[in-house]
Amino acid sequence: MTGKVFIVGAGPGDPELITVKGRDLLTQATVVLYDNLVAPELLPPNAKKIYVGKKKSDHSMPQEEINRLLVEYAKNGEIVVRLKGGDPYVFGRGGEEAEALADAGINFEVVPGVTAALGIAAYTGVPLTHRDHNSSVTFVTGHDPDKIDWTKTGHAETLVIYMGLTTIGTIAEKLINAGRPPETPAVVVQRATTPRQHTIFTTLAELKHVVETAHLKPPATIVIGEVAALRGKLDWFEKRPLFGQTVLVTRAEGQSEEGSSQLRRLGANVLDIPVIEIQPPEDAAPLNEAIENLQHYDWILFTSANAVTKFFAALFLTNRDARAIRARIGAIGTHTAAALQTVGITPDRVAEQATAEGVVKAFETENLAGARIMLPRAAVGRDVIPNEFRRRGARVDVVPVYRTAVPLESLEKLAAVDHADWITFTSSSTVKNFLALGGRRLLEAGAKAISIGPATSETMRAHSIPITAEATTHTMSGVIAQITSALPKVNPPD
Ligand code: SAH
Repeated sequence: MTGKVFIVGAGPGDPELITVKGRDLLTQATVVLYDNLVAPELLPPNAKKIYVGKKKSDHSMPQEEINRLLVEYAKNGEIVVRLKGGDPYVFGRGGEEAEALADAGINFEVVPGVTAALGIAAYTGVPLTHRDHNSSVTFVTGHDPDKIDWTKTGHAETLVIYMGLTTIGTIAEKLINAGRPPETPAVVVQRATTPRQHTIFTTLAELKHVVETAHLKPPATIVIGEVAALRGKLDWFEKRPLFGQTVLVTRAEGQSEEGSSQLRRLGANVLDIPVIEIQPPEDAAPLNEAIENLQHYDWILFTSANAVTKFFAALFLTNRDARAIRARIGAIGTHTAAALQTVGITPDRVAEQATAEGVVKAFETENLAGARIMLPRAAVGRDVIPNEFRRRGARVDVVPVYRTAVPLESLEKLAAVDHADWITFTSSSTVKNFLALGGRRLLEAGAKAISIGPATSETMRAHSIPITAEATTHTMSGVIAQITSALPKVNPPD
């Protein structure tokens, strides 16, 4: 049985700008052929992924070879997605690929994408048409300026030039000679729609100089026309509070990605570095025993969301559910309480302060004499809670339900990071593991460290990490609030 090829536009850079259809096809693909303009986040984990390059400088794979691969994979019965930057039929050679498939009698479909020009229009504040200014738009390639009759194209009211970085001097000259006023507004945009978008507002006459002095590199696109002047008013993307800031998030596996998406929505360039891997405890006996004796406990205190998920996973494995619990339930902080809600349990008590001290405080008035308390938690942890509760007459069973490790894959990931403006630490383990992975050099290079709360700060001080700020609410949102308040309210225009 032969397969099928889907030529899919990936959009201009922001991975969220792919179409719903394109995204769905990626989940079905068995083979994905992609080029260098495609956002890496879009690549599906399970498909065979083939990089076919296409940078001007390194023609990693000739077009004929790409065409041949598409045909061959389809003939082998694969569901092939040919993922291309922007739109496949706008300066993408998607036409040639579709022709090759048609010639070989291969079944194919084409899914459009947001082309760079449209991404730039929206994300830099340059509408391509505007009733007050123009009624036509032209997309041209600057690849070979001699092929274009600039006396005609030059009159296009909005001119979008793809691949024109190296030839812009010649193009600008030809446009001016053809009668376009030298002071016509223009923008050059590099890496549009990504957190590293760089926009320069200038004039037609100045373009060559601007491109040279700013050392712009592809992918970059130039828009010339009166509409470029609207940018001053419509530029929302680069005005978001964290635009231009690189935030390294030292994340624990299983920890929600909510913090990172919140940072991205605020405009930050987020580097997600997992520093903690959750593994089963070395000895499962205490957990199994605690589950067998579930009826005897008066309280179960969960001190992390991980403790909740791992404890209940073990409980469910024994064919029991929440009804097997007679004890009252306590949670450290709202995050752990939310994890309990996902297994249908509303905790009887939630410590407002998400620290061991906060839990102690939440039980201040409780008579604990003779109470049996289970404390499911990480294999290694602080003993503040068991010590204090035992002192007050409780019988406390500390039950390791998971242990943490340093994910070795992150060594390489972190080694590739050359700069961060901010680093977030959300637990003592994130601090220690980040250092173990070699992260100190980023701090020494000036990255500012934000701590989620007092215990984390203590560990940071113990490791001589200067603390730029400590969150007042001990959540990732609290950490983010410290970053935004440390920055001026609006980025100054460039
Ligand atoms: N098919 C693509 C274009 C591929 S040609 C599309 O529809 O967008 C490559 C050129 O596209 C680059 O040289 C640049 O001019 C433009 N381009 C692609 N992505 C871009 C981006 N994120 N920012 C600015 N220009 C981009």
